[in-house]
Amino acid sequence: MIDRKHHSFRWLLLTGLIAISGADAAPAAIAIIIDDLGYRYEEGNRAVALPGPVACAIIPNTPHGASMAAAAYASGKEILLHLPMQPLDSERPVGEMGIELDTTRLGVTAVLRAGMESVPHVSGVNNHMGSLITRHPGHMTWLMNDLQDNNLFFIDSVTTESSVALSMAREQGVAATRRDLFIDSEQASEDEILRRLEDLYALASRRGNALGIAHPYPVTIAVLERELPRLATRGIRLVSVRQLIALRQEQADSALTERDATGASH
Ligand SMILES: [Zn+2]
Repeated sequence: MIDRKHHSFRWLLLTGLIAISGADAAPAAIAIIIDDLGYRYEEGNRAVALPGPVACAIIPNTPHGASMAAAAYASGKEILLHLPMQPLDSERPVGEMGIELDTTRLGVTAVLRAGMESVPHVSGVNNHMGSLITRHPGHMTWLMNDLQDNNLFFIDSVTTESSVALSMAREQGVAATRRDLFIDSEQASEDEILRRLEDLYALASRRGNALGIAHPYPVTIAVLERELPRLATRGIRLVSVRQLIALRQEQADSALTERDATGASH
């Protein structure tokens, strides 16, 4: 009796494992964006030199933005325009290279064009700040229209849970997704950053993929320089943001297909 129970348990375990490995043959994927590049020269250049397809998000009109974009592009990295957007905190200036409540339809186009001239080789955009303006469907729709015209993808940095940017991007047919975790904060210690990285790996293992945003703080860069080369030993692969968006699109498509198939058989 006990033996039979044991046997069926082992059988269940075995078929379960086969099912899991069959469904998830590819290792879990993460993508990492380094935000706020363009100001700190030394950390910025170390970020650009990180191993693998780490994406570099560069603020327009910054002292080192253009040269960092050129260096990142030369080393095969993806470049994002880190577009300033109005935050709730009125003390934080957006500047003329960003989108504010009083930016007009033509103003949005002008800001994007100026940003692309300031930061060469961009393949996508993510928001810098924006806890106020990303709640506004009008401005977000204008921006997404322009991203579509320029074949750029969009990443919602999610600086407010009330952001409608991702929905507006999808409505306009822009390739887009959202950030899962911030890997650091200004005061984060090495241990805290390591814990957030572990959270990112865990999320990727659970869902198949995960997207983290980090900043060019010396501690963060040091941790990434050390940890990124070890990803393979953890069963994690680093992919570009464009690849991560494609992986998520595949997941969404196959979930739809499964739902349709289930629907048809009942
Ligand atoms: Zn930022």
